[in-house]
Amino acid sequence: MIVSRRAFALGGVAIAALAGPALAMGADAFTVSGKKGPYLKQVAKQRFGAGGKGGSGSLGLASDAVNQGRFQTARLRMPQTEAKIAEMVATLDGHWPYEKGPVPTVHIVGLNYYNAYSLPDNSIVVGFGLLDQAQSDDEAAFILAHELGHLRLGHFNQRGSAFNSRSMISGLGQLYVVGSALHSGAKSLRGGGNGVDAFNASAVSAAARAGATTDFLSFLNNTMVPPSHSREQEDQADAIGYDLSQAASYSADSASARVFDTIQADTSKRQETSTGLQKQLDVDLSKVVDPSTAQSLVNGTMTRGDMAGVLMKGAGAFAQGMASRGGGQSDGPKHRSPEERKKGIAQYSTDAYPQGAPLRDEQKGWLQQVRSTAEYTHAKVVVGAVYEAMQKRSAGDYPGAGRAIAQARKTSYGTSPLVLNEAARLRDDMGETTQADKLFRQAHASPDQTVDGYVDHVRMLYRTQQNDPAVEIIATGIQRFDNDDKPFLSLQIAVAKQMGQEDRVDFYLKRCNSFNDQNLSNDCKLAAGRTDSSGSGSNTPQAPKLPSLPFSVPGFPHR
Ligand SMILES: [Zn+2]
Repeated sequence: MIVSRRAFALGGVAIAALAGPALAMGADAFTVSGKKGPYLKQVAKQRFGAGGKGGSGSLGLASDAVNQGRFQTARLRMPQTEAKIAEMVATLDGHWPYEKGPVPTVHIVGLNYYNAYSLPDNSIVVGFGLLDQAQSDDEAAFILAHELGHLRLGHFNQRGSAFNSRSMISGLGQLYVVGSALHSGAKSLRGGGNGVDAFNASAVSAAARAGATTDFLSFLNNTMVPPSHSREQEDQADAIGYDLSQAASYSADSASARVFDTIQADTSKRQETSTGLQKQLDVDLSKVVDPSTAQSLVNGTMTRGDMAGVLMKGAGAFAQGMASRGGGQSDGPKHRSPEERKKGIAQYSTDAYPQGAPLRDEQKGWLQQVRSTAEYTHAKVVVGAVYEAMQKRSAGDYPGAGRAIAQARKTSYGTSPLVLNEAARLRDDMGETTQADKLFRQAHASPDQTVDGYVDHVRMLYRTQQNDPAVEIIATGIQRFDNDDKPFLSLQIAVAKQMGQEDRVDFYLKRCNSFNDQNLSNDCKLAAGRTDSSGSGSNTPQAPKLPSLPFSVPGFPHR
């Protein structure tokens, strides 16, 4: 049983099964020993030059749209804030005594998420929540120095990151795919036609809510997904974060401890919200799928409750920052819990600085400047309003969601894709597809439109059987995001299938498998409704039996 569950969950979801033990198991020793002195000095003999950015691995990775800061989902353009962050990064970088790569670029994501991550294109992505929740400059300095550490230590030149970063597309894909099916059911039912008899109005709205809830879960947990480094690399970045912020006269001891506490609290809160959403999803799904058809829903191996659980687990794993599995390998969890990181860095500090770090008061001047601008005030309103809109939409409160969107539209970010995409999704849920289409296209016209905006638009076009426009949007999306077709492959398959073009389904399936990314392959097979596992490139002994899940949920007529 456990095997088949895990097998189903090969996407982001398998991560959860594997990540579980990480929390319970306790940590191995922190891999960086400060007994040999500050790590910053220990790395003196390493070669960084080829690294920074130049390694072939790095370049390969950076060609994935999802690995580029400028394509990060929910991005907010905040030039003054970005400049202040870049200033702090430069100060920290001034204490890096070795060869340096190019100056990192900074991007901000409009989500109340207390964290940051670096990407192979030499960018640092900062969650708005870090700026909003930090209690001192020193916290921001430690986190930014950690990210700078990844870049300066050349962590992206190493192969491990490639798999992991890529596979996060899959986690997204799976949620999208299931969400599409739910929306699709709702739309078909709303539109009338055969098969409607079996369902009442409450099923229709429950299906719409369930779809919106998967959107919200995805927004909460998949918007900021750090590329997964090895546990060793994370320890190294923590040590460098400590060393650089210490050297730049920040209080690394007190700030780093609070950083880990805040990450823990932030994560717990997000998990709590996600758990609530899971329950809601479960209730809504129970209205949509009756228990007997639920059996056949996923090849008779999974019940409705499992389906909600699977969605949730995938999301939960991301919430934990544990999307650390690559390519379906199963060599154990890699990420420490915040508590373990806190202990590790405290031990490192004692060992590396036996004389004790100088006592310093934490500062707030930088944060005050960051928060004093008009763009910050507007961003704060938008981040809160978009979150509220998603929350209300998933509860089926469309007027409430509309009011939140209206509030966001009044700010200087009113025409940002973060706002326009959510406005479009709301119209879509309300059955106003033409309006939604306009809003999506308006968002595409923005230089900041993101991959998910295109994907959501295509999902809607697919569901409403607008196949030709769907093909067109896919094509422009791929072209726009540096010809990276991976985020679109499962949709290409779904659309081709709907158009009855089995040869194209086969073509895209082959293309999918050519990446040797099991998660991606599985998403594609889900979309194709293929249940066999041939050609998946799977090396696991028990080849997974995949459910022919989403595009033909029983009882959901497609036309
Ligand atoms: Zn890290």
